[in-house]
Amino acid sequence: MDWQNLPEGGNIEDRRGGGLPGGGIAVGGVGGLIIALIALFFGIDPSAILGGGQSSAPAQTQPRTAPGQQDTSYQFVDRILASTNQVWSDIFRQAGRSYHDPTLVLYSGYTTSACGQASSAVGPFYCPLDQKVYLDTSFFNEMDRRLGGGGDFAYAYVIAHEVGHHVQDELGIADQVTRAQQRARSEAEANSLSVRLELQADCFAGVWGHHVSSLANLTQQDVREAVNTAAAIGDDTLQRQSQGYVVPDSFTHGTSQQRVNWFMTGFKSGNPNSCDTFGQNSGQL
Ligand SMILES: [Zn+2]
Repeated sequence: MDWQNLPEGGNIEDRRGGGLPGGGIAVGGVGGLIIALIALFFGIDPSAILGGGQSSAPAQTQPRTAPGQQDTSYQFVDRILASTNQVWSDIFRQAGRSYHDPTLVLYSGYTTSACGQASSAVGPFYCPLDQKVYLDTSFFNEMDRRLGGGGDFAYAYVIAHEVGHHVQDELGIADQVTRAQQRARSEAEANSLSVRLELQADCFAGVWGHHVSSLANLTQQDVREAVNTAAAIGDDTLQRQSQGYVVPDSFTHGTSQQRVNWFMTGFKSGNPNSCDTFGQNSGQL
């Protein structure tokens, strides 16, 4: 992937540096980390676990703005984000709507969000209350180690998935799903709505990939990287790894196969209308 070809100028809020060591990984052992990842992987609303924003630890809020500090991670994230702004602005404009660019908070260790405390242990997420994506770049190392093998287009897919939640927010889909979940008669029903929302964010990530594929010279290998990641973070795969068995009613993000299928649906079509994961006949693929 030639990500350097992509435009610069996303709204990055850099809260890294001068902060607290550890990144959450050494604390509580690997088991706790895995559970947190499963619970919140790519989630839209971390408030359930993160608490209501009570600060039990100092937050890092000082932006790091020195121009010399824009390392490769920063530049990569910035270009991916800026390219999502371009793609989604175009798509919204063609539909007669306007798109409001999200902010992406880069942090290390932990920080605060309008949805509560953010820690690197929970993985990347989108907070609809402040319309910001939260990303600890140490998460990319986690992907390299055990979540599908990483790779630049796999990292980009993660960012584009979170931006997909912002698109859902802009379209009012996120609110509709929250209301439907409040009316749900069972946890399984509420979970199923969450799965549809997450699969749609995967599909939206694919839509973005479609539109940057020639500019970024995407190769088959790049697409395989994203597919490997989507497969590695399916609920069935994560549950099998962590507990040895699978409980479909508890799924919140979809199976490995579903995540791959919906990402590829968006990637092939480039059209968000192909991402109707809520449709009667979609069967969630
Ligand atoms: Zn998600």
